[in-house]
Amino acid sequence: MKLYNLSHPEQQVSFSEAVRLGLGKGRGLFFPCDIPKLKDINVVLAMPFIERSQYIIKQFLQGELDEAKVDAMVASAFNFDLPLVKVDGARYCLELFHGPTLAFKDFGARFMAQCINAVGDGKPLTILTATSGDTGAAVAHAFHGLDNIKVVVLFPQGKISVLQQKLFTTLGGNIHTLAIDGDFDACQELVKQAFDDEDIRHGLGLNSANSINISRLLAQVCYYFEAVAQFQVKHPNQAPIISVPSGNFGNLTAGMLAKAMGLPVARFIAATNANDTVPRYLGDGNWRPNKTIATLSNAMDVAEPSNWPRVEACCDVMGWPLSSLLSASVADKAASLELQALARGGYVSEPHAAIAAKALTDTLAAQVDSEPKPLGIFLGTAHPAKFKEVVDSVLSCQLPLPQALAQVSDAPCLAEPMAADFAALKRYLFARIV
Ligand SMILES: *Cc1c(COP(=O)(O)O)cnc(C)c1O
Repeated sequence: MKLYNLSHPEQQVSFSEAVRLGLGKGRGLFFPCDIPKLKDINVVLAMPFIERSQYIIKQFLQGELDEAKVDAMVASAFNFDLPLVKVDGARYCLELFHGPTLAFKDFGARFMAQCINAVGDGKPLTILTATSGDTGAAVAHAFHGLDNIKVVVLFPQGKISVLQQKLFTTLGGNIHTLAIDGDFDACQELVKQAFDDEDIRHGLGLNSANSINISRLLAQVCYYFEAVAQFQVKHPNQAPIISVPSGNFGNLTAGMLAKAMGLPVARFIAATNANDTVPRYLGDGNWRPNKTIATLSNAMDVAEPSNWPRVEACCDVMGWPLSSLLSASVADKAASLELQALARGGYVSEPHAAIAAKALTDTLAAQVDSEPKPLGIFLGTAHPAKFKEVVDSVLSCQLPLPQALAQVSDAPCLAEPMAADFAALKRYLFARIV
């Protein structure tokens, strides 16, 4: 697969190079030169999940990696369930949180770890990543214990849930964690600066494991196909509306790539919390990020979503107007009310999915008179227990901890505190990691 740099289109790289580099020249994002179109979509949808995912990824890779190897990578990365659960008469939730760190980021991170291993030359590597909560855990778990690979995770001190933090700061070994005195955007900026720094890039064999790494997006394309496959068993030939709880917009990018390949999706909804840069932009055409606001859905507290250029690129090449994308910003209050409404209907969710669920309800309500009756899917991006403090308080309940969380809840946090200062990060990396 050939990819080009969206900021410097003259830079073209193979999939392997894009995986190794993470970001292109001038911090540009890689994007496929050609999005493969699937011919007989119903045949593809009828395949079992793993077989279909192997097929989809091989459409992108076009023989660049050994096919049997790709099959094995997909099978070992996607080794957990993703049920489509009926929530009410019009809505389903695709539960993407049954992996080892209980969030959808396990899909991307586990496949990325496989890819980085597959394209590496055996030299030591450092994975440097910023997390708004869930990426850090997924990446740390995916790479924990691998020889020759060190992982450094930056997270905003005090801005992610205690249990979220425990999932990755307690691992030790090749996993190093830094509690940054700042917000997620500050962490992301430090990572970008490190990539701009030649000494660090070469000295550490730097690789990014953010949602900017193209391998993560390919992995995520696969579950959109699974969502529609399960949906169409119940509603043959109907295309669902899919509502995506969005922060950095990797998830939505993957959905749009799936649609570009031919997946029947009626519309996408970009659902954000109060960090509403994208909904405002889609409304008035002005890109004006505000300061990041801390919300109950903290994994979506992103004011400058780094995958946005890919969403626009996808619309560009497909000839889709940006206005075909629906969007909504849902405040904490409305998200909490939605969480309560879902629970009254018998479905316990969490603050991120609740935002997508609320945006979906409002969209469906606006289309009640359409035929056939529009139906939708919202993505369940995290296990409710991962946000236990919020869910317990909003629903006045005591959620039990699943085993993955119970195991780490009493383990000591090994993270080191650090100012949001690039010089301090550089000193740390050369003192502790090289
Ligand atoms: C990361 C995350 C999101 C946002 O996904 P993006 O791909 O960054 O838009 C939503 N919900 C949860 C639980 C997350 O961890």
